[in-house]
Amino acid sequence: MKVLVAVKRVVDYNVKVRVKSDNSGVDIANVKMSMNPFDEIAIEEAVRLKEKGVATEIIAVSCGVTQCQETLRTAMAIGADRAILVETAEELQPLAVAKLLKALVDKEQPGMVILGKQAIDDDCNQTGQMLAALGDMAQATFASKVELVDGRAQVTREVDGGLEVLSLALPVVVTTDLRLNEPRYVTLPNIMKAKKKPLDVVKPADLGVDVTPRIRTIKVVEPPKRGAGVKVADVAALVEKLKNEAKVI
Ligand code: AMP
Repeated sequence: MKVLVAVKRVVDYNVKVRVKSDNSGVDIANVKMSMNPFDEIAIEEAVRLKEKGVATEIIAVSCGVTQCQETLRTAMAIGADRAILVETAEELQPLAVAKLLKALVDKEQPGMVILGKQAIDDDCNQTGQMLAALGDMAQATFASKVELVDGRAQVTREVDGGLEVLSLALPVVVTTDLRLNEPRYVTLPNIMKAKKKPLDVVKPADLGVDVTPRIRTIKVVEPPKRGAGVKVADVAALVEKLKNEAKVI
């Protein structure tokens, strides 16, 4: 089974982002960029499926600027066999990414596509679901366990009430939750090996996809600053404040 994994280049999760002075977005100039953490989990899961003899080939895909090649090299250092960059300087929204991935699914015919449940920059949590809809594929979001049983994907999902187990016909779209696995550290020998793995670059037009944004951001603002806390003398004072100041009880 071929596995396609979508990996997004995002601002590193340790960076405290700042809003641009004109409120048009977040300032990403000279900021450390890394692979979206949920996508690291996605690649790790694909590699584990390959180690179990379930997956035969892992293809990492990233859509965005030229520097996404670094993210793809990391994916190949973790264990992807080859990579595809859909290169564009255009701002990509989930629907555009889903369309690009759908075009690659048509071309590569994978049995499984693994994505992160959400990208930590836009927090959309949409791309996997949109891809499943566009490709008329089964979907299992927020996966905490993925197995192949009798030629079907058996996926345990984290839902509000606990865990749900689904059995799905292939091809299937899976999105990863935090507890699916713990990604391995990338070793230097594997970084060196990854430099020699194939990385194809295509443009959205080569895939026949129009990636023009459909949503316009009007304004981005910092969250309001939190005021300092106060110490209360006793429970009675706390209750009084909750009732009369905060008005929450
Ligand atoms: P989102 O719907 O934006 O929260 O993203 C969910 C998942 O879709 C991410 O974890 C990635 O696996 C995938 N994805 C989103 N944008 C991109 C992109 N530009 N390139 C590759 N994968 C992406």
